This record gives sequence, structure tokens and C-alpha cells, in this order.
Amino acid sequence: MLGELAKPVMYLSGVGPKKSELYEKLGIHTVYDLLYHFPRYYIDMNDPQSIRDAPLGEQVVLKGRVVRKLPEGRIRRGLSVYKVIFTDDTADVTIVIYNAAYLYKMLEVGHEYYLVGKLTGNMIRREINSPQVYPAADTDPVQPVYRLTEGITQNQLRINMHSALQSLSGFIYEPLPAEIMREYELCSLHYAMQNVHFPTDMHTLELAKSRLVFDELLTLALGMLMMKSRSRERAGCTMRAESIEDYYEALPFELTSGQKNAINDCISDMQKNYPMNRLIQGDVGSGKTAVAAGAAYFAFKNGCQTALMAPTEILAAQHYETLAGFLEPLGVKVVLLTGSMTAKKKEKIKEDIAAGEYAVVVGTHALVQASTVFKKLGLVITDEQHRFGVEQRALLAEKGDNPHKLVMSATPIPRTLALMIYGDLDISVLKELPKGRQPVETYAVTGKLRERAFGYVRQYLEEGRQGYIVCPMIEENAGDLRDVKSYAKDLSEGVFKDYKVGLLHGRMSPESKEKVMKSFKAHELDLLVSTTVVEVGVDVPNAAVIVIENADRYGLSQLHQLRGRVGRGEHKSSCILITDNPTEDVVQRLKILSKSHDGFEISQEDLRLRGPGDFFGSRQHGLPKLKIADMSQDMEVLMRAQEAAKKLMSSDPQLEAPENSSLKELVEHLFEQNVSND
Ligand code: ADP
Ligand code: MG
Repeated sequence: MLGELAKPVMYLSGVGPKKSELYEKLGIHTVYDLLYHFPRYYIDMNDPQSIRDAPLGEQVVLKGRVVRKLPEGRIRRGLSVYKVIFTDDTADVTIVIYNAAYLYKMLEVGHEYYLVGKLTGNMIRREINSPQVYPAADTDPVQPVYRLTEGITQNQLRINMHSALQSLSGFIYEPLPAEIMREYELCSLHYAMQNVHFPTDMHTLELAKSRLVFDELLTLALGMLMMKSRSRERAGCTMRAESIEDYYEALPFELTSGQKNAINDCISDMQKNYPMNRLIQGDVGSGKTAVAAGAAYFAFKNGCQTALMAPTEILAAQHYETLAGFLEPLGVKVVLLTGSMTAKKKEKIKEDIAAGEYAVVVGTHALVQASTVFKKLGLVITDEQHRFGVEQRALLAEKGDNPHKLVMSATPIPRTLALMIYGDLDISVLKELPKGRQPVETYAVTGKLRERAFGYVRQYLEEGRQGYIVCPMIEENAGDLRDVKSYAKDLSEGVFKDYKVGLLHGRMSPESKEKVMKSFKAHELDLLVSTTVVEVGVDVPNAAVIVIENADRYGLSQLHQLRGRVGRGEHKSSCILITDNPTEDVVQRLKILSKSHDGFEISQEDLRLRGPGDFFGSRQHGLPKLKIADMSQDMEVLMRAQEAAKKLMSSDPQLEAPENSSLKELVEHLFEQNVSND
């Protein structure tokens, strides 16, 4: 289908074997890849500034003509300086060129040029040093600027891009069905490609971009839907109305109305004859586990088993304890199954699960493994699912007789984004936190105040509270970071020598992690020095203070998650963010956390400040990497693409019609790339 475009870039005129090797470094193998190497930004020469008014010290675009060329000046051997007087009739500017004789020669008196560069000097004598020079007569008015690699210049890339565009115009390649193009008022792919690289003005660029963003999001939406439709066909196990009043009564607290509503949503979903597909979205500490337990209890009353998956062993162990605590008094048998158990123990538990001995099974990914068989799996709950990949989710969905699915997430992603990531899940939102919670007081300080921060922590410990110190990741192993062990040792022998200090990091064996977590929960430890393994979900209500070292290294959402380890009980809690890198950016970012305690707001800011590149870069959502769409900006297009995808799928669920074959190819391409990038 891609025809010419699937050819290696080497076959483009002007690209030989040597250059194509350089292109490899940019991830560009084929002509198609080159076309999808979009500009990072553009220099718009449609609106040059006047030399008189152009600001000093900033990049400017000027248009004018050469008045006079001064003779070459020799500063010393091997260093020549060339000066050229340039005017646009509002004022003059001196072009200063070091050594680049070819540039000097190129400039001709009386001819018009665009200059792009930084103005220096003062209001009377303006200079522009080594600007980019474009002859006005034959220059595209908007110049693309690409990400480069050493050995390829902007100009060469632009020339090669022109050739690539030429091969595109050689045949008609249009992956979108005509109907979709009409309905969503999209320009042709050919126009889009031409104008995303060489727009005539900002308007054509917008048109081009909106088409390409649409393509990408449509492809993504189609991929997600295709994946889902595979698990959608069979009906799940339908449940009857059963009272779970005794669950409510047995709980040690009154549920918030959000929690009750969420449980009721699940109960009504599970009585339908197709499987539930619901996302519980609630900020850290909003009490999602109690919702999960309620849903599991309802399944139990219907004679069905529930599987709960957690992303880490620590969390699995914690969920096991919570669920056992809530449910065993009601006669529900709960079991923990994790990868680190001995083979023998696992085998025994699995046998019992298959025999239906346990109504609730809590575990990590081990649960996904094909070898775990359930007697009658009715409900699958996944905690913090955004950390799982798409594939894992698909695997789990295949378990059992198409079970009901409940996903819990503390990442407050915007609804539209959730739609994309989770397909068309229904969503229950836990808006309020349980009663009596106070916002965590948050301070951002520099390393100079570290000792004082520790003193502050000591006050908490003195009052019988517990605390966390989150320190550089051991996984990271970067030279400048202090090793977590020696860091913990310093603390436990120094400032905190009167307290019991524990250590938790990702390189420990699961058993020792669990042991440490248990003793911290039991208050046998006062202070836990930890890497970010405590990030997700760990729940110790007596912990009221957390210090986060190198806070600048984390995204705001992640910091919010970490902060969520405290303030989970009735105690007033604090969070101290330490940075040794207090640049203006960092300070501004960290300040957001002092002001806001709303995970939703914080994640929006995070998206805005770091861009989706980072947000999605870590593959937290298991989504393929996007080239041009920006999930935080293109929300509206996302909705439209989602809609178009649904329409397409409803008439052609596996994209088998000939007019959809190019689209299918794109979907495969996008998801293939994702796999090979991992
Ligand atoms: P998250 O939503 O972050 O997973 P958890 O389910 O771990 O939150 O709950 C946080 C803490 O709040 C737990 O200690 C839990 O027992 C407690 N909790 C949950 N719901 C309520 C409630 N309605 N009232 C008081 N405490 C609650
Ligand atoms: Mg949780």
C-alpha cells in the first residue's frame, strides 16, 4: 500500500549510503519515516520585524537588502571577520560574520534577504552575529526547523524532504476513507504533508496539522477499539440483586457518598448481561480499596470469585490485608498469590483457587499467568492500572468466562484521555475525601535547609507519628546520586539515631520488602527511608510526614502520589520537598504543589508544563508514542477521532473492507512501533 514510501531513504535523490546511516540515528529508515519526521518548530518570515523596532537580545526575523560590504578584517591568523551593512529603510544593522567566507560572498549588494538571528548592540548601533541568511526571492516563507543529528544540516534535511514530498506526489496515497475526510473536513494527506513541512503561512500549517493529528489519534483510537472488541463478544456472568448491607455495617467507618455511588454503579453493572467495564477514579486517599471490597463482596454473594491485581508486591500484600480485614469477618476467604512465593506454595494455592476454595484472590502479575485457573471468576479488579501495559490488560480480559472488570486509578486523567486509554470504560469518580482529612502542608526548600527539615521530621516522630524519607532511586545508579544504603545509614546513625529507621528499595527481595512494610505498619519502625517504591497506594495512616529528596526529578503527579502517603489519617501532616537545583522552573513547578491538593488540577499542570512527551514517555499508560498529536492540547480532536473510530468500527470491526486497508496498515504500524520501542 505504501509503495514508494516504504523504500529506504537511500533511494531518494541526494541521499546516499552515508547519509542514510545518519538518518538511521534519527530513527528514519524509509521515505515514509522521513515524511513523518515533523519539524520541531518553524521560522515564519511572512511577518518580518522592522530593524528599528526589533527587540535586542532575542531571535528576530528581518527582511531587507545589502547596502555595502566592508572589506575583510583579519583578527588574527585563521580568524577573519566580515561586516555587511544591511537595511530595511527603518534602520541599518551590521551583519557580522566570523570566518564563513561563503556567506559573505553569497550576499550581494542591492539584493533582498531574510535574516534570522539575535540582535545585539544598542538603539544606535545594531548588530546581528552570524545570522541564517535566506535569499528573499527563492525562499519558502515559512522555514521548518528539524531535530537533527551530527552530519546533517537543516538545509540538507530540507532538500531531502523536498525529494520525499516529490515521491509522495508520484502516486496517490490517501489512507482515510473519503467519507471520513468529508465529514470531518480534513485536507488530503498530500496537502497535509506538503504544508506541515513547507507551509505557505500559518493557516495552511494549521490545516495540515489538524489533518495529521486527526490521523494519528484516529489510528490510536482504532487500535484501542480493535483490541477491545476481541474481549467484548461473549457475555459475562450475570449476577442477581443481593443485599450487601452487612458489608456496610461491618466497615469501621461510614463510606463517603462517592464511595457508595461507585459501589452501586458496580452492582448495577454486574447485573447486566454484558461485562462491566468500569474505571473508579479517585485521588490518593479517597478510599478506592473499600469500593473494590464492596464489589468483591457482591460477587461473592453471587457465588463468583474475584481477582485483584496490584502493580507491586508491597501493594498486593497491603490489599490482601485490607480485603481480608474487611471481608473475612463476613465469611469470605481471601488469599494472597505473588510471584515470589515458593513454587510449592504457589502450586497449593492455585489448586485451591481452581477448586473454588477462595472467593477473593489478591496478587501481582503472577495472577495473569496462564497457569492460574479459577473455578468461577466473576470479577477482575486492577489497581493503578495505568502502570500496566495494554497487552497485560488484554491478557487479563481473556481470563475466565469474560469477567466483569473494575479498574482503580489515582491518576486523575481527564475524561477524554481516560476514554482513549481505557477504551469506552464507564467512569465513577470519588470526588470527596473521607471526613476529617486535612490537606498536607507542603513546603519546597533547598538542600541548605535539609538539617532543619530533618529536625521537623523528628518533632513528628517525637509525637508518636511515623514518617517517610524518599531518596534517590537505587535503580538509577547515577554517579552523582548518593547510594540509598549509605544515605539511610547516615540518617540512622546521625539525626535519627534515637529512632528505628527502616530501609526499602527496589533491589530488595520481595520477602524482605514485605517484612519491612509490615514492621512499618505495625509501628515497629518510626521512619522509612525509601526509594519511590512507596509511591503507589501504600497506606499507613499513622505516617504524617514525608521528605522527598531531589524533588525536581519527579513529575508533579508523581510527587502528588508520593505526598499521598501521608495525610491518610486524622493527623495533621506535612510534606517537605527538597531540591539542590532550585532553578526558576523547578521552583515554579514545586510551588504548584504547595498551593494545590487536587490531583486533577495537578496533573493538568503537569501535562501543561512537561508536555505529554514526558507524561506518556514513561509508557505509564501503555500507549504507543505519538509524533504530532499532543494529548493535552488536542482534546477536541481526540473526541472527534474517537467518534470517527467508533463509526468505522461499527460497520467494519476488524477493518477488512478494501477502503479501510490503508488505515489498518497504519494501526498495525503504530502498534508495532510501540512494541519494538519497549
Ligand atoms: P486510595 O484511594 O488512595 O487507594 P485507600 O483505599 O488506601 O485509598 O484508603 C485510604 C485510607 O482511608 C485507608 O486507611 C482506608 O481504610 C481509609 N478510608 C477509606 N474510606 C474511608 C471512609 N469513608 N472514612 C474514613 N476512612 C476511610
Ligand atoms: Mg490505593
